[in-house]
Amino acid sequence: MDIINILPDSVANQIAAGEVVDRPAGAVKELLENAMDAGATQIDLVLKDAGRTLIQVTDNGCGMSDSDARLCFERHATSKIHKADDLFAIHTMGFRGEALASIAAIAQVELKTRQTDADCGTLVLIEGAHIVDQHPTACPTGTTMTVKNLFFNVPARRNFLKKDAVELSHIEETFRRITLIHPDIAFSFTHNGKKMYDLAAGGLLQRICGLFGQQYKERMYSVEEQTDIVKIKGFASRPEFSRKTRGEQYLFVNGRYIKHPMLSAAVEKAYTDLLPERSYPSYFIGLQVDPSRIDVNIHPTKTEVKFVDDHALFAILRSAVKKTLGQFSLATELSFDTPEEFNIAPAPKGYMPPEPKISYNPDYNPFKTKGSSSAPRQIPDNRHCPETLELPELTEVPNAAAPPSASQPACMQVQGRYIVTPLSSGLALIDQQRAHERVLYDRLMAAQTAASAQMLLFPVQCSFSAADAELFGELLPDLRGYGFEIAAMGGCTFVVTATPTGVKESDMQELFNQMLMEYKGASMQKHSSRSQSLCASLARQMAIKAGQQLTQEEMQQLVADLFACPMAEMSPSGKKTITIVKPEEILK
Ligand code: ADP
Ligand code: MG
Repeated sequence: MDIINILPDSVANQIAAGEVVDRPAGAVKELLENAMDAGATQIDLVLKDAGRTLIQVTDNGCGMSDSDARLCFERHATSKIHKADDLFAIHTMGFRGEALASIAAIAQVELKTRQTDADCGTLVLIEGAHIVDQHPTACPTGTTMTVKNLFFNVPARRNFLKKDAVELSHIEETFRRITLIHPDIAFSFTHNGKKMYDLAAGGLLQRICGLFGQQYKERMYSVEEQTDIVKIKGFASRPEFSRKTRGEQYLFVNGRYIKHPMLSAAVEKAYTDLLPERSYPSYFIGLQVDPSRIDVNIHPTKTEVKFVDDHALFAILRSAVKKTLGQFSLATELSFDTPEEFNIAPAPKGYMPPEPKISYNPDYNPFKTKGSSSAPRQIPDNRHCPETLELPELTEVPNAAAPPSASQPACMQVQGRYIVTPLSSGLALIDQQRAHERVLYDRLMAAQTAASAQMLLFPVQCSFSAADAELFGELLPDLRGYGFEIAAMGGCTFVVTATPTGVKESDMQELFNQMLMEYKGASMQKHSSRSQSLCASLARQMAIKAGQQLTQEEMQQLVADLFACPMAEMSPSGKKTITIVKPEEILK
């Protein structure tokens, strides 16, 4: 009995579609890339419901003929390669000819297109991979691809889509990766009728500012280098503007966004000693290498690349960034360290000043001052503490019923990190950061902080990327409940006039950046509620950190607050806050 079937094209395309277009962002990427391949100078993206109901891309590129407008939806229909050899000299983003076939298999598609010299354009309507209509239409030169009801015939995929905010943030990331490599093309991004980005054609720095905010103009240093094997061009953040996350790190090779841990490490290595712990630089760096020196078999959704010369690239990239940081820090160094140089006597008549000679100190570190005040805090004198304090495995957690006895016992801080205090059941070792996180989290969840909100002496202004600003706007009611007073100033700017106690003004922007990022991350992964993920994120950042010296009163307050929490033994992220060393263990 024969059992082998050839799958009908429609089924094969649906299966292939799963690879290319696994979520709305995948379709957006393909459509934007096609528009760029068509030589467009203006590309407009319009979305509804995070791409679920509508994705529309309009370009002013070369357009298609009547018959190409039908053919482009066939599998392996491409104008970009003709023979296998062409694979080694690809200059376009797409070349496999499967994106449109895939999209057409899982959505309702309308294509309007006109070539420059054609009298009129053509309109093609597709449903379930079949052309249901084609007729002439009046339209400007270029192409508009309208994709409606993505996954309408693939319920499994549709049901796996995440909340709109999540899908939208994937689309934005796609948009950033594409628009960053093509600052010479103008782009716009409209979601549910609201224009979120309007990016004029210009240089890379202008594009970075358009995407991330105007303040990036002052935050970036330019990085440039040219050698036989690579040309490097881009921007990297000044050390003072490092971030607590690796979010804004973009590497491009030959006009494509890539992920390459080794090259990313090269950039971060250049910042060694310039950044406080757990801070990361932002960077937007493009490399141009001979295409025959990289692995060309690039899968449409993959971002990994292999280089023949990866060790050399590592060294070149690191030194290029290092050079930049060294050069630019010169100005800061002069103004801090040699103020007396500015008492310059007037030059005698007829004196020609010699050409200035510039030297700089490559080891310059803005975080190191002459004293040691900015070095990580250390316990002033730890001779009184055990040399190494081995933490015993957690035996039994005190239940909240066994708090320190009524009269506050003395507390001791060990290694700037643990609070040690005697209990009836032994010695409690409390992780100060986790404990404080627990206390803050419970307060935020109970919205008790609103009562203890403090007015700021000077309001603090915060601004975000357009999409983050939108999300932030949505979260404002929650934040007000926690004791923040925040007013939207229009555009992407907000002004904070009050905060729960304990929030540092200087950290406000970073606090919110981190909160937004974690909130987006949390809604992508767990099913934690909105308030849970917000409170956990805020608590994590507002908490005192390991290494922070505490006074006797602060320690006692923290211990008392902690034992008042119903879930005292766990931090909100589920880590142990307390370990008990039993009397017999102390004896040993
Ligand atoms: P690929 O981009 O890999 O060639 P696609 O399925 O994305 O495959 O597109 C198929 C073909 O349709 C392209 O090769 C191109 O000739 C044509 N095409 C698609 N989008 C556009 C557009 N916006 N403008 C002009 N031609 C386009
Ligand atoms: Mg394509």
